[in-house]
Amino acid sequence: MAQDQKTGCGPSGCGVPLTPEQERILHGHGTERPGSSALNAEKRAGIYHCAGCGRSLFDAAMKYESGSGWPSFFETLPEAVGVTRDASHGMVRTEVHCAGCEGHLGHVFPDGPRPTGLRYCMNGLALDFRPS
Ligand SMILES: [Zn+2]
Repeated sequence: MAQDQKTGCGPSGCGVPLTPEQERILHGHGTERPGSSALNAEKRAGIYHCAGCGRSLFDAAMKYESGSGWPSFFETLPEAVGVTRDASHGMVRTEVHCAGCEGHLGHVFPDGPRPTGLRYCMNGLALDFRPS
């Protein structure tokens, strides 16, 4: 039998179903608790993929320690993500989603380090890190 095409990629790679918490973030615009992601302390070289579809989103070289409690990047890989204006919760923010599956990843803020000045504030559960 063919595998269910909706399962996509989980933390261990493609074909692994998303957890309910990952579903809540990627498909329900949820946000994980700050400091909860093991990826905050991840320093190895590699590529961060979308947990929903496996698209390559960030290189580990684009990651930095923002102190926000969420994995943070100052740049994305080319054509990795799309953005929309998010005026929920009484704030105007820029929502970031995967360009492949449109799953919600996090937000981008204009207070990041040089050279981009951007801070991509990501939910670790929306990411699938594969060390190189
Ligand atoms: Zn995706």
